[in-house]
Amino acid sequence: MLNWFPGHMNAARRKIREAMPKVDLVIEVLDARIPFSSENPLVAELRGDRRCIQILNKEDLADPAVTAEWLAHLQTRDGLVAMTHQQHQPKLNQRLLRQVRTLVPPKSGRPIAAMIIGIPNVGKSTLINALSGRSIAKTGNKPAVTRQQQRVAIGTDLVLWDTPGFLWPRLEPRVCGYRLAATGAISDRVVEAVDIAEFAGGFLLKRYAERVLTHYGLTETPDGPAAALEAIGLRRGYLRKGGVVDLERAANALLKDLGAGTLGRISLETPADCLRK
Ligand code: GDP
Repeated sequence: MLNWFPGHMNAARRKIREAMPKVDLVIEVLDARIPFSSENPLVAELRGDRRCIQILNKEDLADPAVTAEWLAHLQTRDGLVAMTHQQHQPKLNQRLLRQVRTLVPPKSGRPIAAMIIGIPNVGKSTLINALSGRSIAKTGNKPAVTRQQQRVAIGTDLVLWDTPGFLWPRLEPRVCGYRLAATGAISDRVVEAVDIAEFAGGFLLKRYAERVLTHYGLTETPDGPAAALEAIGLRRGYLRKGGVVDLERAANALLKDLGAGTLGRISLETPADCLRK
């Protein structure tokens, strides 16, 4: 399903391992909608016993009740502080910077080095720009784009290091790939839109059925994901010649609505879902 080259993976692992001895603290950015699927297990291995702040980013898109469950779950891990974050909230930037400075007391002679690490598209560049108050890191939807490592000074006592190389997302179990694709972390050039939308539709019918019915104006709960796409397409008038529903158009509409938060705040996994695996 995924197409991450072993060469890229090895390069990222090597670069992170090389940089780590100079790093005081790791800020691991996760997607609050999929904290498990957006985590790369390598980070825990490479950070060793360094303190780590795990950020549940894009909180504005995630289900608040599920995010509360994740925060409670993550806080139980050794050496970790978990906190939520979202863009355009200056207070949250200040809260994060306070937490960094609390966890790592200033050392004489050199600023704190904090490495911001995470898979593509979780919001690292947006975060670095917001924390620095400048527009330095390139943002945008660009999974799998190679980037230069950047270091950004925050005041005189802190330097943020961007992820060196490029960190691939969790590849196993397979459901993680679907969750990553449904949140836009993996581009739909890699996975078929209808395939992802059927996964997302099935999940939404299980956990957020009312929202699907209300948003698309459906009167009956569809009998499964394929029927959901069909019903959405019919309702929206996405028809091909001969009156056949254009499933791809329906799939793209559903994924766009899910990604933009138009269906409300939705989380695609709970701690219980992931612990069961
Ligand atoms: P990076 O690849 O990890 O550096 O991710 P970017 O910073 O480029 O962000 C990827 C996409 O997520 C961009 O379209 C951002 O505008 C968006 N984004 C970043 N932070 C947030 C957030 O808190 N909420 C929402 N809704 N979108 C965000």
